[in-house]
Amino acid sequence: MINLAVVHTRATQGLKAPLVTVEVHISNGLPSFSIVGLPETAVKESRERVRSALINSQFEFPSRRMTINLAPADLPKEGGSFDLPIAIGILIASKQIPAEAVKEYELAGELALSGKLRSITGSLPLALAVKNANHHLILPRSNAAEAGLIKDLKIYPASHLLEVCEHLTNKKSLQAYQADSIAPASHCLDLADIKAQHQAKRALEIAAAGRHNLLLFGPPGTGKTMLANRIIGLLPALTEEQALEAASIASIRNLPNIVEHFYQVPFRHPHHGASSVAIVGGGSVPKPGEISLAHCGVLFLDELPEFDRRVLEALREPLEHGSITLSRANAQVEYPARFQLIAAMNPCPCGYLGSKQRACECLPTQVQRYRNKISGPLLDRIDMHVEVPELPAGALSTIPDKVESSSVVCTRVKKAQDRQLARQGLLNSQLSGKLIQQYCGLSSTESRFLDQAIVKLHLSARAYHRIIKIARSIADLAGDAKIAHSHLTEALSYRKLERI
Ligand SMILES: [Zn+2]
Repeated sequence: MINLAVVHTRATQGLKAPLVTVEVHISNGLPSFSIVGLPETAVKESRERVRSALINSQFEFPSRRMTINLAPADLPKEGGSFDLPIAIGILIASKQIPAEAVKEYELAGELALSGKLRSITGSLPLALAVKNANHHLILPRSNAAEAGLIKDLKIYPASHLLEVCEHLTNKKSLQAYQADSIAPASHCLDLADIKAQHQAKRALEIAAAGRHNLLLFGPPGTGKTMLANRIIGLLPALTEEQALEAASIASIRNLPNIVEHFYQVPFRHPHHGASSVAIVGGGSVPKPGEISLAHCGVLFLDELPEFDRRVLEALREPLEHGSITLSRANAQVEYPARFQLIAAMNPCPCGYLGSKQRACECLPTQVQRYRNKISGPLLDRIDMHVEVPELPAGALSTIPDKVESSSVVCTRVKKAQDRQLARQGLLNSQLSGKLIQQYCGLSSTESRFLDQAIVKLHLSARAYHRIIKIARSIADLAGDAKIAHSHLTEALSYRKLERI
């Protein structure tokens, strides 16, 4: 008689969920219970949870020598999700459940000592992998809605180990999960809340149209944060594919309300005191950071120079490649991080340099040091620099109320993005080298004009391509096929900080 059971489950490796085979072998010998196959602490502790859960659910706990192998052995395993497959494996190896019962299934779930099932982390990427393997999935009820975002996958949610066993022994079947339809994204912050600041609003629209990175600078209280918060309302909702990618990253980080926010463009707003691990990602088992949670969405860094210089420098790689590679002793994972950077800063440490209403208290060296915190290469990767000036006293009361709402601007942005996608399959900010030449060609007159402007305004050579891409977005908003002189002039006006 062979007392060997095989149950399938999944590990997490970045956004992937590779198959793990749980083998349970019961043999004669002194009673023991060991888990092999690169288990991290939480998996090692699985022994105690599984033992108590089985006993408390009135199953027989074999008092023989038990070996659990999690294969492949070189794949690190972490978290409590292996509890359920291990428990079911023990029940199969000790003939309390027939082996063929789990053939079509993959199982995941953490067990409470009572046998209740607790939610797991990363159920969305797991569900996707199970679907691609053509298996069915048994998992904790609290994870069902999230896993249910994957279409065409049979999910059997359970609350207790006993329910799973009754299902597998055909005593009482679990109900397959029926996903509700997902509400479209909604926004509450409206651009119409902001009076005046027309140039900044215009810049925000252009940034939204081409998904260009944007730096807003100006004294405190001029509405930089309000403007940045409102870019979400200008951006079209995520596509199904983008939404799944963004939700998978949120699932690995165990964020709440993933289903409710499914189609919403992510907006992340980390504090300037946040650590490099929190922003870029990392940890002993590398987890995605804010830049990955902002994937397909917006990363807003308020008070940019206050961030740790190392954090800012670490942004250069993802800004260039749209992903981040995190390395640790036994693992190297890559997370997507294609975010749009919106940053805000004061002109000087006290904030009032150039102000007519209050005198700046900073020494020139302090101002220099403050600005130098943002390195040239980082500033280079921020396509647009836009001033949000203070308004003259009394200006707000004289401004008429006729202002555009976010939804009107969003319609224009959507049209401009559709044009870009139809023409080149990418948004303008994602164009590089050859594609810029192909899709953003300038006439010889415009080309000469731009060359002269670059020299005259002391702009870097790298700024050249950024200006052309912004001009392309301006033309797309206007519905023009060719980049014209006026588009270039406007684009040039958004590189202010380089010239200061
Ligand atoms: Zn100052």
